[in-house]
Amino acid sequence: MTTNPRYEILFEPVQIGPVTAPNRFYQVPHCTGMGVQRPHFQAAMRGVKAEGGWGVVCTEYCSIHETSDDVPFPFASLWDESDVRALHKMSSAVHEHGALAGVELWHGGSLISNNQSRKPTFGSESRPHFFDPVQSRKMDAQDIRDFRRWHREAALRAKKAEFDIVYVYLNHNYLMWEFMDPALNHREDEYGGSLDNRLRLARELIEDTKEAVGDSCAVAVRYSLTGNLENGQLVRDDYCEMLERIADLPDLWDITIHDYPTEMGSSRFVKEAAQEQVVSFVKSVSSKPVVGVGRFTSPDTMVRQIKKGILDFVGAARPSIADPFIPTKIREDRLEDIRECIGCNICYAHNSRGAAIRCTQNPTMGEEWRSGWHPEKVPPRHADETVLIVGGGPAGLEAARTLGQRGYTVTLAEAGTELGGRVTRECKLPGLAEWARVRDWRLEQLNKLANVALYLDSDLGANDVLDFEADHVLVATGAKWRADGVGFNRLSPISLADGIRAYTPDDIMAGDLPDGPVILFDDDSYYMSACSALVLRRAGRAVSIISTHSVIGPWTQHTEELSFTNAQLMTEGVALHHNEVVQAFDGNEVISHCLFTGEEKRRPATGLVTVTARQPRDRLFFELADHIEAQGSGPSITRIGDCNAPGIIAHAVYAGHAAARAIGQETQVKKREVSCLHQD
Ligand code: ADP
Ligand code: SF4
Repeated sequence: MTTNPRYEILFEPVQIGPVTAPNRFYQVPHCTGMGVQRPHFQAAMRGVKAEGGWGVVCTEYCSIHETSDDVPFPFASLWDESDVRALHKMSSAVHEHGALAGVELWHGGSLISNNQSRKPTFGSESRPHFFDPVQSRKMDAQDIRDFRRWHREAALRAKKAEFDIVYVYLNHNYLMWEFMDPALNHREDEYGGSLDNRLRLARELIEDTKEAVGDSCAVAVRYSLTGNLENGQLVRDDYCEMLERIADLPDLWDITIHDYPTEMGSSRFVKEAAQEQVVSFVKSVSSKPVVGVGRFTSPDTMVRQIKKGILDFVGAARPSIADPFIPTKIREDRLEDIRECIGCNICYAHNSRGAAIRCTQNPTMGEEWRSGWHPEKVPPRHADETVLIVGGGPAGLEAARTLGQRGYTVTLAEAGTELGGRVTRECKLPGLAEWARVRDWRLEQLNKLANVALYLDSDLGANDVLDFEADHVLVATGAKWRADGVGFNRLSPISLADGIRAYTPDDIMAGDLPDGPVILFDDDSYYMSACSALVLRRAGRAVSIISTHSVIGPWTQHTEELSFTNAQLMTEGVALHHNEVVQAFDGNEVISHCLFTGEEKRRPATGLVTVTARQPRDRLFFELADHIEAQGSGPSITRIGDCNAPGIIAHAVYAGHAAARAIGQETQVKKREVSCLHQD
């Protein structure tokens, strides 16, 4: 029973073929960087989602056979018995909390390169890989028969691993999509040409899977629609037609849209429930339950999706990562406790880096097994001790919240007149408004903790800190952007004429803008150059970026923001110059040189902004360390977040959380994982 009847509909059980989900909260398949390499990570993390109330919890993409190997990206697999044992850990962890476990069977087709297995890839046609110098072979009749057999065998292994829902995965440009997409399928056999022919393999795969495991497992289909809208209505096309022809064949539809950067849209460019008009089509043609995503964090939006007949299940990847306990919090009517996803895509980014998942909002994500962290529970304080935290940015706020939850007497002193540090500044940049949730959720939680005192306007020096006589001091004083252009590509300062200054992102965020035309020197890889340039542009300045990179924000390829970022700059009239390093500025002209040829370039400008590196604000920490060493006694001191090592906000939150857990605890041995652990 839910405390608030308004949300009762979200807790109704829903039948999916032969199985019944206990409620409408559905964690759709999502990457974790865990896959087959980290089965214990996987089991513990998915188990926490089930514990938090998600009625269905799925794996990430799960390869059916060694001809589908996505190395270096971590993926799950069901190739053999050891994989069955590994994934059984996950299904058991999910079942322990009464949820259903789903597995997304996958074959990558021409979109992968089989770096590990060295098998040739195959697809509907012979196509080059988008990056690696390999090309797939066109599947012949025997390949198609083999593929169907491998898929069937993997489905049987999924059943053996006790999954309740087995996916047939038809989208995201992988193998099955190649057959369905008329642009990718020019075959002349019974699998190419007409719409029915292009749909044939998908239909066969669903039928094969139902025949193999459908007696006890639900068969779900993950499918995408183009998402082309006209006057708010979905334009009917081949993909609608194909879905209609097999509308009632699967037990469940899991719907996405073609355009992955939009489907996986960051909040910078895509807002909540962006797929509504597309997904609503499915229920108009199928009697089967439908799940769809939309970065849903508001229970009212969730209820509306169900009541309007758009969805049967509230699908989530990111919201379930940011807060695995959303369902429990809604059931208990603790809506203010929901830790809302900010749409930064840091979770996804680390999958493409081969590392286990992490989350800006939820520092315990990915640490459930490795560090034994739980998103809702922390160990109680070890003693009646006091902690002083200096700095109220994301690191300081998360440390204060966690220490407060543990029961320590905590004081947080912030030099400025507002809390939030860089989050408060950065959330005013174009597109980053939702990032304020990092601060706001923590302030909401801190308000409930009588043992935590927050002081603004308190710029502490070393003597102030020592006079406070806390048992422990956490220095979370952040970092500031450098104004001399030193960074990765420049090891010495830019030559500036006398009386001429360069501006930094800190100046831009404080509203201190140079007159134009402005040149922004970009040696950063993430969002700050693009966002700063947009602020200047929208304030009417002519803006050019001289970048050391060949695209602006190359790291945003990991957050699916790269094309949006560059398109937005071009559309808004920011001129882009690539592969150059700025050398000098005299107030009238910027001199740079090409990184490849060394050729000198001169461009007129009256303002220069540098976005290159940050300087940790660590003086207080070193002064304290010196005092304590000289006196031979004093509080324990730890520097955390950007004043320790400038990084992304997720790292500052994580550092605050880790430091708060570490007080009074034995140093934890962090566990590693390799796939040989499949054997146990
Ligand atoms: P992080 O990302 O590591 O949390 P931020 O830069 O976001 O770092 O936040 C650091 C905060 O510390 C800022 O709000 C800043 O005003 C504050 N701060 C810096 N030095 C002091 C100090 N000596 N006393 C109190 N607060 C400080
Ligand atoms: Fe949301 Fe960012 Fe966490 Fe991903 S990392 S779940 S996008 S807050």
